[in-house]
Amino acid sequence: MTYTIDLRSDTVTRPTPAMRRAMFEAPVGDDVYGEDPTVNELEQRVAALLGKEAAVLVPSGTMGNLISVLSHCNRGDEMILGDLAHIFLYEQGGSAAVGGVHPRTLRTLPDGTLDLDEIAGHIRADNDHYPVSRLICLENTHNRCGGRVLPPAYVDAVGALAHARGLRLHVDGARLWNAAVALNLPPSRLVAAADSVSVCFSKGLGAPVGSAVAGSQEFVKRARRMRKQLGGGMRQAGVFAAACLVALDEMVARLAEDHTHARLLANELAAIGGIELDPTTVETNIVYFDVTHPTIDAPALSAALAASQVLINPTAARRLRAVTNYHVSKRDVELTIDAVKDALGA
Ligand SMILES: *Cc1c(COP(=O)(O)O)cnc(C)c1O
Repeated sequence: MTYTIDLRSDTVTRPTPAMRRAMFEAPVGDDVYGEDPTVNELEQRVAALLGKEAAVLVPSGTMGNLISVLSHCNRGDEMILGDLAHIFLYEQGGSAAVGGVHPRTLRTLPDGTLDLDEIAGHIRADNDHYPVSRLICLENTHNRCGGRVLPPAYVDAVGALAHARGLRLHVDGARLWNAAVALNLPPSRLVAAADSVSVCFSKGLGAPVGSAVAGSQEFVKRARRMRKQLGGGMRQAGVFAAACLVALDEMVARLAEDHTHARLLANELAAIGGIELDPTTVETNIVYFDVTHPTIDAPALSAALAASQVLINPTAARRLRAVTNYHVSKRDVELTIDAVKDALGA
């Protein structure tokens, strides 16, 4: 093969020609003064898409989640989240390190949810010994659970529980667009119960940089201060916000293609001896699978695939993760299957 099929993540997607043109032509201003028209347009678009009063552009999903947590919580407050949440596992413990926010992890169920009764049982009573329970975090789609989509009614129920007990709900929606496309619902429906939402433009949507957080005017006002405090205030950010606008216009609906490719990949992988997965759990663009081959483990399979120009990361001794994306065609999925069969001698 003469080119590389890159299934390591959807973050490897490069900006499209339309994005580069929009970046070149974008009207810009100093966003710290609120004067970048392209940033302002993007923030308004995102707020409308998510059904929230306002939104603020941030450089990364990690910063979006961190400023959301910091905006909701005081030092010493507790947030309830899953033990497989991106915020807990992959964000440098920023909410504890920077915000002094105490994480209370509950078991993440295989479908990406947390048990409602378990959440309710872990909201602290008012007692001098206890930290104050302030925030619940959900993730949609759920990265470590294989891109699972949270049912809207479940998110509503968690929001209702949070609000009944005086807590807030944050949704880490780095891949919320994938969830919306998979459910064929507007993104706003998926986060109707959330007090804040973070979304990303640089994963499946292909923009070079950019995430946003949305919520009430009051929340976003705090979030802007937190962004500044963390060094995330930007000047002529319209140069990349322009690409994010193109991403929203042109790259959301096509995620359905990534999902079709992921299902194809999962079905074909499941039919190979030495590979195990349940293809019915593949709902979006992420495919986790286990290699049960007697002599080839996940790092060895990954290395063998890389030698045939197929990049798939191992995530554990016997587990790998493939993420379909804009640059991966149906033909590439078929070539990937052939490469896996070759590597396993199947
Ligand atoms: C990628 C990701 C993030 C963080 O985004 P960065 O832009 O890489 O900081 C947050 N949450 C989830 C679920 C993600 O997959």
